[in-house]
Amino acid sequence: MTIPAERSPWAPGREGYYGDFGGAFTPEVLHETFAELRTAFDDARRDPAFWESYVALMSTYAGRSTPVTYCDNLTRAFGGARIFVKREDLNHTGAHKANNVMGQGLLVQRMGKRRVIAETGAGQHGVATATMAARFGLACTIYMGEEDVARQHPNVFWMKQLGAEVIAVTDGTRTLKDAINAALRDWAESMDDTHYVMGTVCGPHPFPEMVTYFQSIIGQEARAQMLDATGELPRRVYACVGGGSNASGIFAGFLDDPSVELVGVEAAGKGIDSGMHAARLAGGKGRPGVAQGYKTVFLQNEEGLMQDTYSVAAGLDYIGVGPMLADLHQRGRVRFESATDAEVVEALRLTMRSEGIIPALESSHAFAGAFREVSSLSSADSVLINQSGRGDKDIFTVADALDDNDWKDFIQRKSAGYER
Ligand SMILES: *Cc1c(COP(=O)(O)O)cnc(C)c1O
Repeated sequence: MTIPAERSPWAPGREGYYGDFGGAFTPEVLHETFAELRTAFDDARRDPAFWESYVALMSTYAGRSTPVTYCDNLTRAFGGARIFVKREDLNHTGAHKANNVMGQGLLVQRMGKRRVIAETGAGQHGVATATMAARFGLACTIYMGEEDVARQHPNVFWMKQLGAEVIAVTDGTRTLKDAINAALRDWAESMDDTHYVMGTVCGPHPFPEMVTYFQSIIGQEARAQMLDATGELPRRVYACVGGGSNASGIFAGFLDDPSVELVGVEAAGKGIDSGMHAARLAGGKGRPGVAQGYKTVFLQNEEGLMQDTYSVAAGLDYIGVGPMLADLHQRGRVRFESATDAEVVEALRLTMRSEGIIPALESSHAFAGAFREVSSLSSADSVLINQSGRGDKDIFTVADALDDNDWKDFIQRKSAGYER
């Protein structure tokens, strides 16, 4: 593995700006904390032993490198480009999120802090952070909107089992944005011994760059694996985009390869015109603005009020998008598409039946985006889909979407057994 260069193609410019987007709009009390974090990250990345220790940790603890799988059955079903899948589902905790949290864990160790906090919406980032905290022996507090605590109970259960304190936030709409505010309030009072583990490539500088740095391991591996498997680079790379970390990670490996087309797939939910979606870039509904400490394209109304977002995939249901991706979109380097809930469930079903692989509902957006286009490419071409995570976590949602009656019976029998 090569140490990512300081002037990598995905490094921001001055003050953490990617073109018009990014920056750091932080409250005064946190200025010093952010300065400390920037220094710690800069020192770490200049120390070759740091990247080596990260790669070693990910290989002995998380199962990296993850494979690239050639999907012969899907390829034959569509009759176009050869379909390859990067298997982040095989990473420990079942998704790419581990890359980021374990990397930040190593940084916390270097900074000598004893406690981590994080916000979580669907709970995946909370579980990953609680896992990291257990491994590194850190105290851990996870902020989660009360509404999400009720909806995502299995993840809450695991966070607690892993030793984290889970605080249900009762402000506002009791969802992700309220959890972010509560976590920031905690940090403003606890920054001396506490690190805030950002879950994706969003938030104030240096988080977008730092998270991309850790996630770039996906792209670095995938590029070498595609060259090994086919002797050439893929024609297109597809990734789903929530905050944008798995997409930034795999795209980082190919940004310097102009022949590789990069495609981000956002959540069209019930359709972009229905208003129930989370597509900020595809479909042109997002507008530039500053919120949550950084500038990017947000889903907001004319008055700048953040809109409600929706997706069948909880991990894609977010108002903003990584500033690097907003810039790459503006510069035309990444094309953005979207996929509806219905298309996504169909893509998931086909992938399970054809390949025995269960992509997460989030990842299934990338599959749906690729499936729409592969038939128009030639069999001499290959495409690479980033499978950001595994889908067995989505059993409740998928069983509902497929209207599975045996599953409903099972849940009813199970809950009847608990009646007092
Ligand atoms: C959290 C999550 C996502 C969305 O986050 P990004 O930062 O956009 O990658 C995608 N896939 C899975 C499996 C997730 O858990």
